[in-house]
Amino acid sequence: MSNADQLEIDKFSALAHRWWDPNSEFKPLHEINPLRLDWIDNHARIAGKAVVDIGCGGGILAESMAQRGARVTGIDLSEKALKVAGLHKLESGVAVDYRHIAAEDLAAEQPGAYDVVTCMEMLEHVPDPASIVNACRQLVKPGGWVFLSTLNRNPKSYLFAIIGAEYILNMLPKSTHDWAKFIKPAELARHVRNAGLDAVEVMGMTYNPFTKVYTLEQDTDVNYMIACRREA
Ligand code: SAH
Repeated sequence: MSNADQLEIDKFSALAHRWWDPNSEFKPLHEINPLRLDWIDNHARIAGKAVVDIGCGGGILAESMAQRGARVTGIDLSEKALKVAGLHKLESGVAVDYRHIAAEDLAAEQPGAYDVVTCMEMLEHVPDPASIVNACRQLVKPGGWVFLSTLNRNPKSYLFAIIGAEYILNMLPKSTHDWAKFIKPAELARHVRNAGLDAVEVMGMTYNPFTKVYTLEQDTDVNYMIACRREA
């Protein structure tokens, strides 16, 4: 468990019981989920595919991918979040295999086992994001897809993701995010390239505080995703 920050895990564990409350601290994840799910599915056609969701938390994305017919494994290092995910699965009847294991350890155990790897809103919480990207590359089959998302690091993301979300709009608890750990698209693209993956598309996810609506667009100033492929 070397590439994990216990304080970060504890933060998510403390809130985990509210994971599936759409009006809780996890509201943003509920609201962006349909957008990222469609984006992933449009690229990778996930029905029938083996998918691993790294840092799955309470399972919002994992369950939604399983509902689209993917065979989903969800991994996280918060036991509480995984417990909540397991309970929610019983309620919703959606099949997801949840495991408490580090990405690097799963990669050593099951190299090349997955058609699709997703790792969303998690890289900005780990000490060594490049190591997670490497694990993604190890986990994915030749020709498979890796989808990553995180927060950009610039004055605007400080204003929106920290000041706006945590202090003005109270969308997130204070100190949910550490701005210094945010990752610029060029930095993430470098991790992707160094891992041996090809970046296929970079997509921004923006929040309009007036309409309270999220949209996918080219603007990667705050939240963004990268679709990557391993060569066939
Ligand atoms: N990916 C989910 C949850 C994002 S919240 C979604 O987008 O809906 C971030 C999650 O990352 C939390 O569940 C937290 O426990 C997990 N996490 C943080 N550090 C981690 C690490 N080093 N390894 C695995 N999971 C981690």
